[in-house]
Amino acid sequence: MRDAIVAYARSLFDRGFVVGSAGNISVRLEDGTFLATPTGSSFGSLAADEVSHFNAEGRLLGGKAPTKEIFFHLACYEVHPAIRAVVHLHSTYSTLLASLEGLEDGMPIRPFTPYFVMKVGSVGVLPYRKPGDRRIADDVREKRGYDTLLMANHGLIVCRPSLKEAIEAAEEFEETAKLWYLGQHLPIRYLDRGEIEALRL
Ligand code: ZN
Repeated sequence: MRDAIVAYARSLFDRGFVVGSAGNISVRLEDGTFLATPTGSSFGSLAADEVSHFNAEGRLLGGKAPTKEIFFHLACYEVHPAIRAVVHLHSTYSTLLASLEGLEDGMPIRPFTPYFVMKVGSVGVLPYRKPGDRRIADDVREKRGYDTLLMANHGLIVCRPSLKEAIEAAEEFEETAKLWYLGQHLPIRYLDRGEIEALRL
């Protein structure tokens, strides 16, 4: 699993989904302990033995100290017992979308591709907080009905039953946000209500 985290991190870095040391990934293992990308690490040069391994009490079992944003990942695992992975990105178009005025829970983008509906679904919006503010964990608990979250003026959080699903949903979100941005002045044919409902079956 350490190797999988390193491979996905590298892939996200190589394709420009993360820059610098922004963004983080965590996984809940079978035994209830966690793996996470370490604090201050770049997704482009992460080594498997640097991946942080720690238990539910926060005791480090191996690797480097986890990302400083791990506290809200743990809130995600707390409110979603079935999830096994959390991916948090500051990716360009998702963060742009997260910085819009007046965002509300639901569909931040009026659906025009089936994949956003199928892989991402409804999105909860968290209020702006200073990075590191522990109230972000409370915000995650409050939006427990959503496994995809936009943090105002910050980025994206995706909670899924597997790392693969979390990565794919985060990628789908970012690509759809990019299409939304690129298509703002085009006469888009949006999906109608019946088409959206059919995707949710
Ligand atoms: Zn962040």
